[in-house]
Amino acid sequence: MISSLCIFCGSRFGETAKYSNQAARLGRLCGENAIEVVYGGGHVGLMGIVADAAMSAGGKVVGIIPSRLLQREVGHQEISDLIVTKDMFDRKDQMIERSDAFAILPGGLGTLDEVFEVLTLRQLGYHQKPIVLINIDGFWDPLNALMTQVINAGFAEPDVASMILSVDHADEVLPALGIGKGSISDGGPRQHAVR
Ligand code: AMP
Repeated sequence: MISSLCIFCGSRFGETAKYSNQAARLGRLCGENAIEVVYGGGHVGLMGIVADAAMSAGGKVVGIIPSRLLQREVGHQEISDLIVTKDMFDRKDQMIERSDAFAILPGGLGTLDEVFEVLTLRQLGYHQKPIVLINIDGFWDPLNALMTQVINAGFAEPDVASMILSVDHADEVLPALGIGKGSISDGGPRQHAVR
């Protein structure tokens, strides 16, 4: 059963309001469905939006942030719990450990690092947790294409593609995880297609 969702996303807003809207939507849906949000602990960019929306909806939000980033990412003081770690590695470990599933909104290099961390750990069998990519307006198409390239070139098993559940909208995330209506067994999300 999934009761906590780790949300990876940008520490910036990105250039279209669509990203912020979907971040707010995802945070709100988690709050409304009593799904604990685990995230990077900052009050900046999409990260701050997710946390604020989940808190406003009455949810529980756990932020995990390294001491060095408390200032730069504005450690969020109005969430349920702010855990300060000694470094980035410890932060990632704790975020992964505390969560039952991962959802990835658009973001920058930090988000990419986090995506590859959960993908590679799952490839190696360190966890079996679902990974949902929120492909707003095709933002993650290049990542899906890179996965296809890696597989087709013989550098990964074809089944690694099935580690990614791809959805177009924040509304599809919880159903993709079997929470609420339209779960996977209802033919909910698409898996990343290998061409
Ligand atoms: P970004 O997508 O670059 O805006 O960063 C999103 C989040 O990822 C921020 O909280 C960053 O601090 C975090 N981040 C950046 N690099 C790393 C890393 N190597 N390991 C873990 N988190 C990171």
